[in-house]
Amino acid sequence: MNATKHTFDIVPDEPYIYEFTDQDVVLDLHGISVMLNYERGATEPRFRHAKLIKVATTRDFETARGFQTIDQGDLAPRTGLLFGKYPPSSNEETVPDLPSNMLAQPVPPGLQHLTPKQLETYYWQARNHEGCYDAIALFQYFIDLFPASTRLRVRSVKNDSPKEYYCLADARTIHEFELTDQLSLNMVSVLPERVTYISGLGHSTCHAVLGFAPPGRGPYFPETVLDLASLQFGETGRGFKGRGTFVLEDTEEYVSRLATFSRAHNFEDSTRSERINEANIRDNVWLVTLAVKVKERWENGQFVPWCDHCGAPPSLGHRLLRCSQCKQVYYCDAEHQLSAWPFHRHFCQTI
Ligand SMILES: [Zn+2]
Ligand SMILES: [Zn+2]
Repeated sequence: MNATKHTFDIVPDEPYIYEFTDQDVVLDLHGISVMLNYERGATEPRFRHAKLIKVATTRDFETARGFQTIDQGDLAPRTGLLFGKYPPSSNEETVPDLPSNMLAQPVPPGLQHLTPKQLETYYWQARNHEGCYDAIALFQYFIDLFPASTRLRVRSVKNDSPKEYYCLADARTIHEFELTDQLSLNMVSVLPERVTYISGLGHSTCHAVLGFAPPGRGPYFPETVLDLASLQFGETGRGFKGRGTFVLEDTEEYVSRLATFSRAHNFEDSTRSERINEANIRDNVWLVTLAVKVKERWENGQFVPWCDHCGAPPSLGHRLLRCSQCKQVYYCDAEHQLSAWPFHRHFCQTI
């Protein structure tokens, strides 16, 4: 077996040599992110079995019942989402919560014309409220299930060219920073308890992402940023070319993107750590269970594929569509294929 030598700087002053072998597990960072987010969204405890009842946007935010009680300042845009959480019938108990089944039935007035993309944004805007820590914890619990030698294949697109490198899965860093004066306000309420989550109201918001770097460059100065909760900030948090449901891109691009989230940020001075602070995690048992499930799905991927846009598995009576060009990735439908294409086209032949 051939071993390739790479130097890693786990922390800047502690470089060490790690030997990769052909036997090491290699996880595709984009692929696992898609699936980790799918499983997190589908069973998010705060929104489990919650259906969307009402949406208020900047235009009608102040007049829509239920959203007028907060001090709105001069913020724009504003989004208000009202969900209703009622006990599911016995045959609905295990059904995943998805953008496609999020609307209350019959569809409430005013929501009939929402597009699948708008529903997807609202779905994630609600779930990603303080979701960055959950997302990072889930990522960590997932990687913990693999051997220490596990590698990540990190793919991104920069200046219309594909970029790719491999790094040790453990050589990642959590970057925690402040967004000052967020540029959007989101209010999400869940009935019947009327639990309310408001984002963007205070002077500053804390946000956390994962940083990765190729061998030889410490992840303390990441080359690539993975923000699994970016849709908290609405459409501006969409991935490559405004399509994806999370962000995986060059640090430079991510830093310019932050200007669309808030007036100022301190990303350069972010607090860096290797492990999540468990005190920030609401429900470890839920996340560990999901991590185990995603590991199984990853390992069975050859037999049971997943949608490369949203991470969904095939469902009963519904096969996924395969990319006819590379025959390596799958999609729920033409819409998800289209959403994934700006990114996938750069890797379609090489995957
Ligand atoms: Zn899909
Ligand atoms: Zn393809």
